[in-house]
Amino acid sequence: MARKTKISTPLIIIGAIVAIGSLVLKLIISILDTLAVPLLIVGSTIIIILFIYFIFQYIYFKSDKFKQIREEIRKYIENCNDLNHHIIELRNSFSEIKIENQGKANLEDSSNYNFQRKEWANFVKTSQVYNCSATICKNASLQPFKYLCKYFNIEIKEETLSEFERVLNDFSAAEQGKKLLKDEKEIILENIKSKIPWLIYQFSKKRLEQELGFEEFDFDDFYFPVYKFQYVSAGGNSSTNCNIELDIDNLEKFIFYLNDLIKFRKSIHGQRALMTANLREKIKTRDNYTCRKCTISTSDERNLLLEIDHIIPLSKGGITSENNLQTLCWRCNRTKGSKIEIQYANDL
Ligand SMILES: [Zn+2]
Repeated sequence: MARKTKISTPLIIIGAIVAIGSLVLKLIISILDTLAVPLLIVGSTIIIILFIYFIFQYIYFKSDKFKQIREEIRKYIENCNDLNHHIIELRNSFSEIKIENQGKANLEDSSNYNFQRKEWANFVKTSQVYNCSATICKNASLQPFKYLCKYFNIEIKEETLSEFERVLNDFSAAEQGKKLLKDEKEIILENIKSKIPWLIYQFSKKRLEQELGFEEFDFDDFYFPVYKFQYVSAGGNSSTNCNIELDIDNLEKFIFYLNDLIKFRKSIHGQRALMTANLREKIKTRDNYTCRKCTISTSDERNLLLEIDHIIPLSKGGITSENNLQTLCWRCNRTKGSKIEIQYANDL
């Protein structure tokens, strides 16, 4: 009896769906039948309006009036694009981190196709994935930094701390730069709003930005390094992941963690500080939100990105201490960075 009900229930449902479906279809056809002519008129009108709008848009962006507006704000837009390039460089900061060189080797999954683990592809591609047992995976989630150092060969020493501090400093500047860049772009667009036709401003803002010369800004957060502990069962059917994302907050916690383990002895140069958000703000306040090189300040330029610079670079033995830190505007800091690179090239 029970089996009979099981078979007939889906049949009833299918029957009902077919019946309702055909009714709805009939209704739609009869509506379309009566509305065919009005729909045709509305449809073609929309197409004509769109066509006219696209022609209007094309002519407008080629017009002298628009070219003049673009010329007036050119240097502001170039500044935005330069800042964007700088932010991209800052976001790449982590790729320069020197983690102990462990040598080179190739790993190949030579098992039969059916037993190949898709996850292995990720493992081979990046050194930031550690394939491990389920227990290690679970423990890593309980003590992330401990396992991060242990399994990714991050040596607990002063140089490592400095490297991560540099990354934190760059990431913080990148995040702040992103916000300032967004604001600056909004202000530029707001200032020319009255000169741009309403339709273009409302419906073609993206195109307007491109025509003005703005590059596309990438404001996502995907650049933060992620260390991954991954367990995949032998058959590849069950898996567990533990991801440790080094975003600004976690990076700051990580440098505190490293510092506690290093138990840094106070050097003769003075007290060593940690590159925290508080310290960065303290240096900026001390320097009056003014670049110590070119003396530009936040009161001279709206949305000016100020960064904290090590006077003697970390790579040359400088330490994070108030005496060795200064406020630089992003342009001066950028020039300083490239000069050091040139210096390195000459040293080689
Ligand atoms: Zn400057």
